[in-house]
Amino acid sequence: MPFESLTGRLNQAFKNITGRGKLTEKNMNDMLKEVRMSLLEADVNYNVVKDFISNIKVKALGTEVMNSLNPGQMVVKIVHDEIVALLGTSEEAIRYREHGITTVMMVGLQGTGKTTAAAKIANVMVKKQNRKPLLVACDVVRPAAIEQLKTLGDSIGVEVFTLGVETKALETAQKGYAYALENGYDTVLFDTAGRLHIDEELMQELADIKAAIHPDEILLTVDAMTGQDIVNVAQSFHELLDVSGLVLTKLDGDARGGGILSVRAITQVPVKFVGLGEKIDDLDIFYPQRMADRILG
Ligand code: GDP
Repeated sequence: MPFESLTGRLNQAFKNITGRGKLTEKNMNDMLKEVRMSLLEADVNYNVVKDFISNIKVKALGTEVMNSLNPGQMVVKIVHDEIVALLGTSEEAIRYREHGITTVMMVGLQGTGKTTAAAKIANVMVKKQNRKPLLVACDVVRPAAIEQLKTLGDSIGVEVFTLGVETKALETAQKGYAYALENGYDTVLFDTAGRLHIDEELMQELADIKAAIHPDEILLTVDAMTGQDIVNVAQSFHELLDVSGLVLTKLDGDARGGGILSVRAITQVPVKFVGLGEKIDDLDIFYPQRMADRILG
């Protein structure tokens, strides 16, 4: 389970301050030192940890907390709220247009779960949001990607538009949009090509599709298992494409939590969905409050 060791360590740190009638500044500093260590060991970005601890210090060492009846519990609550603040305070849904077709461009490195996420999100749209989505297969680099999207589309009853690998991604995107318009779709998800690493050609292709489609949402899939690396990847994509949301995939794996706790604070891009497994239903809307509860155990 993700966060297991982080959760254990945080709870250990809290043990020494809860249940005490009074707290000294030393108790507090010892506890904060422990919290700091556990976050760094979970691979949370150094600057994020620094700001996090100093925010807690300011709030926790106030006389109101120190003189309260149960200071330990108040401090735990402060830590909880700061974790929620790191994760994004409130959930961020897909912003649907009031009129016309809402367009969602899926981007991300190869293997992060982009194609799977496109289908999972289409499934949520159909089942829970009463939308009529079309999936457009713009990953023409990896032939298997089109087949994969078609199989996924079939399994959820969502049509997949493709012109095969011979047609350029940009043309497929434009024709896919026109097809959606003609056929009464209200939402289009574009599955774009990934690469193993960020390269200029990929970024140019994505920038061209963005310029032609003007997507309402650009969702970047990042793999929670890759830890802090997701921060670097997210920053690079965000600089070029102005990403509107993140899909954090593979949270069911043995992630330490570092990436999740760092990426929002550093990029300011909200996490909109989390992937929790390989099956089509293994996707959740991201609720920062619930995630914080889970981290704190
Ligand atoms: P893409 O190259 O980014 O389009 O990645 P794919 O969608 O093809 O996914 C790559 C692999 O990751 C596949 O085997 C997926 O089943 C798997 N995968 C995707 N999302 C998740 C997830 O949330 N959890 C787990 N455990 N596996 C996932």
